[in-house]
Amino acid sequence: MHRVLIAGIAQEISSFNPVPTEYELFSIQRDEEVVEVNKGTSTAIAGAMKVFDSEADVQFVTTFAAKAVSAGPMSAECWNTLSTEFIDSLRPYVGEVDAIYLALHGAMGGKTELDPEGWVLEQTRALFGDDMPIVFSLDLHGILTAKMLQYGNGVTSYHTYPHVDLHDTGMRAASLLLKIVAGAKPVVARVRVPAIVRGDELKTDTGCFGDQIRKIKSLEAGGEILSGGFLIGNPFTDVPELCSQAFIITDGNQGDAERIALELTAEFWENREKMQSNLVPLEESVEKASSMAGPVIFTDAADAPSSGSPGDSNSILAELVRTNYPHTVLAPVTDAAAVQKAVAVGVGGTFTAAVGGALDPRFTPLEFEFEVKLLSDGNYILESWGAPQFSGITAVVISGVFTLVLTSLPVSLFDRSLFLGHGLDPKNFHSIVVKSPHCQPRFFDDWAEHNFNVDAPGSTSANLRSLGHSICSRPIFPLDPDVSFEPTVEIFN
Ligand SMILES: [Zn+2]
Repeated sequence: MHRVLIAGIAQEISSFNPVPTEYELFSIQRDEEVVEVNKGTSTAIAGAMKVFDSEADVQFVTTFAAKAVSAGPMSAECWNTLSTEFIDSLRPYVGEVDAIYLALHGAMGGKTELDPEGWVLEQTRALFGDDMPIVFSLDLHGILTAKMLQYGNGVTSYHTYPHVDLHDTGMRAASLLLKIVAGAKPVVARVRVPAIVRGDELKTDTGCFGDQIRKIKSLEAGGEILSGGFLIGNPFTDVPELCSQAFIITDGNQGDAERIALELTAEFWENREKMQSNLVPLEESVEKASSMAGPVIFTDAADAPSSGSPGDSNSILAELVRTNYPHTVLAPVTDAAAVQKAVAVGVGGTFTAAVGGALDPRFTPLEFEFEVKLLSDGNYILESWGAPQFSGITAVVISGVFTLVLTSLPVSLFDRSLFLGHGLDPKNFHSIVVKSPHCQPRFFDDWAEHNFNVDAPGSTSANLRSLGHSICSRPIFPLDPDVSFEPTVEIFN
């Protein structure tokens, strides 16, 4: 009988978000709660549990799973508490388990720790020793570091963007772990590419980046490699090893692993110019939309909480107000103080509040006279993969053509959950502000007349040169001119 330990810790940050992540932002499950929350969902942990459940000679134990919506870098206190709780949850199992699966993200970051996932792997290794098989999984936006590869035996990463294969990634990680337990000797080759990328060509179904992913998937399916992935990093996580990169893991065949990683990265580098965003100026977007029949989507990726922004931009709203926009508008804004005012007057009450810019001083608060339509405790279910979401006390408020969903906390907005969870069908509005770089087409694009990818300011702007990177290794495309790519293979085994 093999006994596997499952634990996880995950967040994606934007170094350019001025609001630090505090411990309270994390939703944490301990021991059996991890099973209860994940079972039957499409998370990576659920996928791993499914594989372990299907093996008669495998049992698993869960200790700790922490996840937070994307935000600014963790404060020192946050990381100290979180990292201590994480490692303490593992201590009772030293000598009790035969393998470890860690569900990670790869784009975490703290004021005092620039490689939290590397720390997790290093400390887990230190606790359980050199012979313990450890496999981890990452988001496709993860920044896989040398430290993670030094202390982990293997890794899997999402093969889809937008992400729809979390469950599969967990399943692949679990299968890889069981292969290592059964005697596979993983050798990891990785090649880093000095490029950070953004935009439609990264959509794995339709964009050029999908070519690299499809190759990896076919090599995995054919059994030629144990695992492989192409990580594009999160361009907003300004850490030393920020880059795009391929990793290939074979069972002892270093030559194949090297060759495949080199091929994939050479192809990717060729496409770097294509993999940047085409943004439409704010004024132009609003002007064009005002004469459209609708529905119209204003994509505000510069304030995408799922990428690490605070969600309190009002820059598109301000332009709509300025131009006396003639159509109905649905938009989310993080603004705890405005929510409190709504709570104070209650449903049906009216109040005046200046919304937006409460967290990010880049935005100037914008005053509205609101009527409160609905108040909630902020608990709802994520449309994408069924996980519980929490936006803090939340208010639906109306002012003229504007219907705003005011949340106390930033929440991921890559689907319609916040709207649907508060009785609002976006299809009933002419214009919808969507604070996410990309969504699955069925959520908005399939039924909208047009989607404007708006060039608005914000801490997750696809206008990458506007952000002010100061930590990642340079030169890197597109921040620097004349960047060249001289591939180096790093081997870990
Ligand atoms: Zn991601």
